[in-house]
Amino acid sequence: MSFLDYAPAPESTSILNLKNTYGLFIGGEFVDGGGHSFATASPSTEEVITTVAEANAADVDRAVHAAREAYDTVWSKMSGAERGKYLFRIARIVQERARELAVAESLDNGKPIRETRDVDIPLVAAWFFYYAGWADKLEYAGRGPNPRALGVAAQVIPWNFPLLMLAWKIAPALAAGNTVVLKPAETTPLTALLFAEICQQAELPPGVVNIVTGAGATGEALVSHPRINKVAFTGSTAVGRKIAQILAGSPTKLTLELGGKGANIIFDDAAIDQAIEGVVNGIFFNQGHVCCAGSRLLVQENIHDDVVARLQKRLSTLRLGDPLDKNTDIGAVNSRAQLERITEIVNSGDEEGATRWSAECEIPAKGFWFPPTVFTDVQTSHRVARDEIFGPVLSVLTFRTPDEAVAKANNTPYGLSAGIWTEKASRMLAIADKLRAGVIWANTFNKFDPASPFGGYKESGYGREGGRHGLFPYLESADWMKGGR
Ligand code: NAD
Repeated sequence: MSFLDYAPAPESTSILNLKNTYGLFIGGEFVDGGGHSFATASPSTEEVITTVAEANAADVDRAVHAAREAYDTVWSKMSGAERGKYLFRIARIVQERARELAVAESLDNGKPIRETRDVDIPLVAAWFFYYAGWADKLEYAGRGPNPRALGVAAQVIPWNFPLLMLAWKIAPALAAGNTVVLKPAETTPLTALLFAEICQQAELPPGVVNIVTGAGATGEALVSHPRINKVAFTGSTAVGRKIAQILAGSPTKLTLELGGKGANIIFDDAAIDQAIEGVVNGIFFNQGHVCCAGSRLLVQENIHDDVVARLQKRLSTLRLGDPLDKNTDIGAVNSRAQLERITEIVNSGDEEGATRWSAECEIPAKGFWFPPTVFTDVQTSHRVARDEIFGPVLSVLTFRTPDEAVAKANNTPYGLSAGIWTEKASRMLAIADKLRAGVIWANTFNKFDPASPFGGYKESGYGREGGRHGLFPYLESADWMKGGR
C-alpha cells in the first residue's frame, strides 16, 4: 500500500436484523407463499443473504383482494389529511432506519454505500414527505375539484434503485388514495420487505400496501389481474411492450417508465473540468445501471482529444470494490445475467471497430464486476451507440455544429434524458427546446427532486413520476374534464 492509498472503511452489517426467510406481505402480515422460495444473494460476494417466497397466481390474487378490501372499507373512506399522516410517519421511520436501509440496499444490490447513504435513502424519505403534503390538497393537483382515486394499483419495479423506485410508486399512489400491490425485482427484494416492516411499524391499515416477491411470472400474474385499476411499470422496454399488449383493450390504466440512451452534449465553451465530473456522475454513478444515464457523450470536435484525455485521467482515480466500503466509487454489477449482457454489447463494440479503453482496476475474485470503460471512434450505427448497455460504459461521438449535436442526440429510439454543457444560457434553452427527451439537465446531470416530474418519450415510455404530474396517473379526473384528455 502506498501512503496515498485509502485504508479500508467498511460499513458494518451488524445493524441488520434480517430473518432467514421472508414470506409475502399481504393484508398487513407476512404470510407463506404457495410457490417455491428463492435466495437473494449479494452480487459482490455471491453469498446468500436470505430467502424469499415466490408468489404464484393464487398469492397474487390474495394480495389484490387484500388491496381491494382495504380500498373499499378503509382507505377510500379516510380523509386526505389522515392519509397524509401515515405518509409522514413512513417518511420519518425511513429516516430513523436510514443506515440500516442503506446497508441492506448496498448488500442486496451491489451499489456503493456512499450512494445508498447519500442519495437513495434520503430521496426515499423526501418522496414520502413530498407526497404526504399532497394528500389533503388533491383538488389543487390540476385534475379538477374532488378528484377520485382509481382503486387498486399494481406496481412492478426493477433492481437498479430498489427502494427508491418503490417510493416513486407507492408514495403518490397512497397520497392519491389508492391501495397497492407491489412486486420488487427478483434480484433485489430485500428493502421492499424491510419497507413492509415499516408499514407495520407505521400502523398503516392492513392491505393498503401489499408486497409480492417473485420474478417475471409473478409480475405477469399481477399486471393481468382483472381486479386491478392501474398498472405502473418501471423496467425494460421489451417487458413494457408486453404489458402494453396484455392491457390493450382493457379499462386498466397504464404508465411505463422504460429504458434510455441519454446524450450528454459538451460544447467547446463549457467549463471542461466541471463537465468531466458531470459525465462521470452521468454514466458511472450506480455502475451505469441508470435508465437516464448519459451513456452517449457528444463532444464538439475541436475539444474531443482534450475531453477524452481528462476523462481517462479522472476515471483512473475511481475505486472499484466492496460496496460496503465508504471509499468505493464503483460497486458490483447487480447480477451475472447483467454482467453477461454488458460484456456481450461491449464485445460488439470491439467487433464493429470502436476503440475500447478501460480504467485499470483490480477486479475482485468473487462477484460480478465491470471496470469503467470508454469507447471512442464510435459511429452512430454501432450497437454501443444505440443499445442500452445499463453498465459503466460510455460511448463518445463528436459533432461540429449545434444542429448536428441535436440530430445525433435525437437519433435514438429512446427519449428519457439529456445533458447540455455550455456557458451560454441562450444555447442551453435553444438546444433543450429541440431535444426529444423527458428530462434535460444543463451544466449538471442525474439530479432528482420529488417536486420535479420525470418520464420519457418514444420507447422510454409514457406517464410522469414526481411532482404534481406524478399524481395524475393515480387520479380519476372530474367528469367535465374527461373530454379534454
Ligand atoms: P425488466 O423489465 O427485466 O424487469 C423489471 C421488472 O419487471 C422486474 O420486477 C421483473 O421481475 C418484472 N417482469 C419481468 N417480466 C415481466 C412480465 N412479463 N410481466 C410483468 N413483469 C415482469 O428490467 P430490469 O432488467 O429489471 O431493469 C432494467 C431496465 O429498467 C432498464 O431498461 C432501465 O432503463 C429500466 N429503468 C427505467 C427507469 C425509468 O424511470 N424510466 C428507471 C429504472 C430502470
